[in-house]
Amino acid sequence: MTSKRTRDRLIERLIDQGVSNQAVLDVMVNTPRHIFLDEALSHRAYEDTALPIGHGQTLSQPYIVARMTEVLLGAGGEMSRVLEVGTGSGYQTAILAQLVKQVWSVERIKPLQDKARERLRLLGLRNIQLKHADGGFGWPEDALFNGILSAAAPREIPKGLLKQLAPDGVLVIPVGADTQYLTLVMRVGDSEEFKIQKLEPVKFVPLLSGVTR
Ligand code: SAH
Repeated sequence: MTSKRTRDRLIERLIDQGVSNQAVLDVMVNTPRHIFLDEALSHRAYEDTALPIGHGQTLSQPYIVARMTEVLLGAGGEMSRVLEVGTGSGYQTAILAQLVKQVWSVERIKPLQDKARERLRLLGLRNIQLKHADGGFGWPEDALFNGILSAAAPREIPKGLLKQLAPDGVLVIPVGADTQYLTLVMRVGDSEEFKIQKLEPVKFVPLLSGVTR
């Protein structure tokens, strides 16, 4: 179930769905997704579906992880400092950490963060900082970021996140309540102007406020 062949099949599916960034595909084929799941579910790790990780949250569908990463990397700007909102299992964090210089990731549910930290350590990824906080406010102490990726959907684009974008920085975020769209926001140079592009309909867990222990 966790064999190279099973992973190769997943990658073929991603290509069929239009993912074309070779660096993203290479990292995804080489990153074990099963370690980000509880044992009872690990046999389903290479299916192209979202899977439960407890606390009412889900590990994002591989297609979505690939697509968001590709959009982030392809938006044009330098991608050395990236903030992720919603660490969850840590899978997307692991993918990002292998493609950019430094990753900051915020999660509001402490037990999820603890598990993610352990798995990322297991993979030997050291360019990641995790914080237990409400990611709707970003990570003000370490801003600005070239890229921000949110794995949870707010109803509207959080102003606080826009303020933490470096010049030419990009935010990739699902936006909306019942109907959500994956949205790309690009800061125009060092201005206060942002270009917004609606990409495709998606289904994410909501961005919630506050933290839980
Ligand atoms: N990329 C993750 C996705 C997890 S689901 C993965 O593949 O495992 C989205 C995560 O966002 C959940 O863990 C949820 O707890 C978290 N989340 C929701 N609102 C948040 C907020 N305001 N701040 C930080 N994390 C948040």
